[in-house]
Amino acid sequence: MTRSSSRTVFANGLVFDGSGAPPARADVVVEEGRIVEVGLGLDGDRTLDCAGHLVTPGLFDCHVHFMVDGDFSPITHANTPFSLNFFQAAERMERTLASGITTVRDAGGADLGLKEARDKGLIAGPRMQLSIAILSQTGGHSDSWEVCGAHLPGMLDPHPGRPDGVVDGPIEMRRKVRELVRAGADVIKVCTSGGVISPRSDPQHAHFMPDELEVLVAEATAAGRFVMAHAQATDGIKNAVRAGIRSIEHGVYLDDEAIQMMLDAGTYLVPTLIAPAGVLEAAERGVGISEVIMDKARAVVDVHRESIGRAIEAGVRIAMGTDSGVTPHGRNLEELNLMAELGMTPLQVLAASTRSAAELMGVGDEVGTLEEGKRADLVVFSGQGNDVEIDVSDLGPRVAAVVQDGLVRHGDLGVQS
Ligand SMILES: [Zn+2]
Repeated sequence: MTRSSSRTVFANGLVFDGSGAPPARADVVVEEGRIVEVGLGLDGDRTLDCAGHLVTPGLFDCHVHFMVDGDFSPITHANTPFSLNFFQAAERMERTLASGITTVRDAGGADLGLKEARDKGLIAGPRMQLSIAILSQTGGHSDSWEVCGAHLPGMLDPHPGRPDGVVDGPIEMRRKVRELVRAGADVIKVCTSGGVISPRSDPQHAHFMPDELEVLVAEATAAGRFVMAHAQATDGIKNAVRAGIRSIEHGVYLDDEAIQMMLDAGTYLVPTLIAPAGVLEAAERGVGISEVIMDKARAVVDVHRESIGRAIEAGVRIAMGTDSGVTPHGRNLEELNLMAELGMTPLQVLAASTRSAAELMGVGDEVGTLEEGKRADLVVFSGQGNDVEIDVSDLGPRVAAVVQDGLVRHGDLGVQS
């Protein structure tokens, strides 16, 4: 049989394909950037040995911020030349890809140029959906106003590629969503409550009124965009779910009613468990963080975990997200262990990091599972041996190879033939 293009076989790994089938030993055959076959005893022009390894779909992180890297201090922003931050973001994207993350949502900060630079092959990184700016009300989570009366520099400062995200009232909201779509937003990010890393907002207060959120969702829907809500306060979560927002980010103060509403509406939860502890850790590393923010971070760490644990137990749809940027990029897979600690099985953790995340982002036809016809994004992890049980507690250091569109972008696998 003659073939017009070359077939690469990722041979003999324990394959978690994301379809819901139990992990099984299999070969994954890739041709022209797509998966063409998954099965046993398959041949190809080139065989990469995955024996003793775990093979998964490329992992997702549904909540990152590439324009910041574990140091959100205004002093650092003030001392960073404007264009330097784009080069820094490129390196963070590459680091994220090397950690096994092949698709992300940037939840605020990155603009269209970063995404296009990746799509054109100028820089390496995960596939991206962008939110560009973060919509918040005056005094909300993305309002940089400080009590001295000045705006301090940060990762959301408006520039020609990134509109300002502070907005009030349904009329302004309509225009703002249109501006974001014009600037290249794939998803609209809104803060329906206060948050931790903002000077004057309270994580326990709901932000925006239902009429504002209604316009927001209607405009986003008209443009074919989903909405993601930074939502920590109980009422902010409920307002978001009622408005038809697709995912709740952080979900710090979930109560039973909020959980039931999410189940009924099919709303996704993106936990970002490593984020609050990351703020405290950043302070230990010497990042300048105000006492107000430190107090808020301390206050949410435990209640956040307890809240997410209850949502997991109730069966809320979970998609993996870290808020990396609050923590340094590249440590994304630490989140998987935290999800498991709160009661998810290893297979549920992997599903939340692959298929479910792809469904949340609306890209499940192309990526998220290892099935015929899908783009060949996959991760190969060492240390599986002959075991069929999967351990997600330390996957980060076990990344042996990261494959995107059928190309090994990071790592090395032994070639058998
Ligand atoms: Zn975030």
